[in-house]
Amino acid sequence: MHEQAGAPQVNSRTTCILAGAPIAVEIRARVRADVLGFRRRHGTLPTLAVLHVGRSAEFAVYARQIVRTCDRVGIVAREERLAGRASAAGLRERLRELSSDPGVTGVILQLPLPRRISLRAVVGELDPAKDVDGITPLNAGLLAMGYPAFAPATAQAAAEILDRSGRSLEGLHAVVIGRSNVVGRPVAQLLLRRHCTVTICHTRTRDLGSHTRQADVLVVAAGSPGLVRGDMLKPGATVVDVGTTVVDGRIVGDVDATSAAGVAGVVTPVPGGVGPVTNAVLMEHVMLAARNLAAAERARRPTGRSGRIAPASPGTGLRRR
Ligand code: NAD
Repeated sequence: MHEQAGAPQVNSRTTCILAGAPIAVEIRARVRADVLGFRRRHGTLPTLAVLHVGRSAEFAVYARQIVRTCDRVGIVAREERLAGRASAAGLRERLRELSSDPGVTGVILQLPLPRRISLRAVVGELDPAKDVDGITPLNAGLLAMGYPAFAPATAQAAAEILDRSGRSLEGLHAVVIGRSNVVGRPVAQLLLRRHCTVTICHTRTRDLGSHTRQADVLVVAAGSPGLVRGDMLKPGATVVDVGTTVVDGRIVGDVDATSAAGVAGVVTPVPGGVGPVTNAVLMEHVMLAARNLAAAERARRPTGRSGRIAPASPGTGLRRR
């Protein structure tokens, strides 16, 4: 039987498990069709550069997953590695080159960077129009102001999962655990945009449970296995578990799935929840960047003849999402 994308599966205790895979399938199918249309129209394929500094097994796995997802939707992936000893100046230079390379439509800079290189010192070289994982201050600022922006893919994935949870988000109390720039803060912005009343919790929050028990929607992005137990949930709450921590060789989330079952109304599994949707959303962002860059290029050529696709100036061409 074919399931509708995102349709929650009911377990024996009435907590629904909202798996990410069907949502990812739906998004990838849409991107694949868009990529084909883009190639017909422009004669080129969107291209994603995945840039990392140094060598790490974790990065290698992550990069492989992105490259595989690119292959599935027809996006060209270019993996780029700077030597572990690369300097901030070297990284800035590479980001500058990728930003001005007309053959590159999106750039992911894998984080965290080696400790001696601060993201703040290099991120200004990344063209916000190619910043498909929303790490530049311009995209973060646009997002915070409610304007069209590239949000970090994981945050966007959490919001897209909630969009398909079968419940209108408007007016609900959403609690986000985590305030990082890649997940917690942007998730909070995306939920605000969906008209939730948003509370952000973090390590200095007093009595975490008193907040989470008020949450109609709870997004947990702490990286602390089992942080949220069933007795910290409002009965019937929709819970998105973003956390992924490797414990004894297994990936586990921040929500204690056993005690949450029977209390939460809907919960995303780990693994298999936010993760698969994140990569699909990334593909959507690369496709959007390609379209925006092509439109900016067309606008620069009033004759309407499209040549090679050049980067848009920062902030241009970002469409409302
Ligand atoms: P981070 O360490 O940068 O931020 C964690 C945040 O959680 C911090 O703001 C901190 O204040 C808060 N926090 C930590 N412990 C807490 C506690 N006990 N009580 C209250 N708040 C607490 O991590 P991050 O990059 O935001 O990632 C969060 C989690 O999401 C990690 O497990 C990470 O692996 C996972 N992640 C998953 C994906 C995916 O695609 N599924 C992508 C990115 C990150």
